[in-house]
Amino acid sequence: MPNVDASMRNGVIDQVKIAAGVRMILQGLGEDVKREGLRDTAERVARMYAELLQGAHEDPREYLRVVFDEQHDEMVLVRDVPFSSMCEHHMLPFHGRVHAAYIPRGKVVGLSKIARVIEAFARRLQVQERMTSQIADLLMDELDAQGVGVVVEASHTCMTMRGVKKPGALMMTSAMRGLFKTNQATRSEFLSLVLHNQPTS
Ligand SMILES: [Zn+2]
Repeated sequence: MPNVDASMRNGVIDQVKIAAGVRMILQGLGEDVKREGLRDTAERVARMYAELLQGAHEDPREYLRVVFDEQHDEMVLVRDVPFSSMCEHHMLPFHGRVHAAYIPRGKVVGLSKIARVIEAFARRLQVQERMTSQIADLLMDELDAQGVGVVVEASHTCMTMRGVKKPGALMMTSAMRGLFKTNQATRSEFLSLVLHNQPTS
């Protein structure tokens, strides 16, 4: 798992400390941490957290360094980018899709780079509202766009597995910047492209 290696190298994620904590949780649950099924669990969970949460030590700005000069000034939209993140209130996953659009002002970027930005913001302890704004603000700033719109729809396991237990409930958040905020027609165009013709999955 190359991702884990990278996190170990940069030394910011302390897997030894995480493993010790996981062992304490298991003991707190009354488990025998030496029994066969649990013997390697603490280290395994530590490696998993390092992989899932390494985005906190990444600078997503890097992915937008290479931009192309292009006189296109209509909306560019990337839809249905899947993501998984971790809710910072419960440390349980939430996952879903991101739709992001921008109107360039002479600078465009490869769509895969936008996916990398989403990934970097998702792979950290998050709340959905903040992730939505962070993606929008970064695209707005780095691309010097005329406007940015981001919609995130996600299912939160802290809601579907526990508490009120509402499987299938989706949380929707949006962040509008520039023209997407000030121009009703732009916002409507974006939302109709994003919210209609949903895949059934
Ligand atoms: Zn939660």
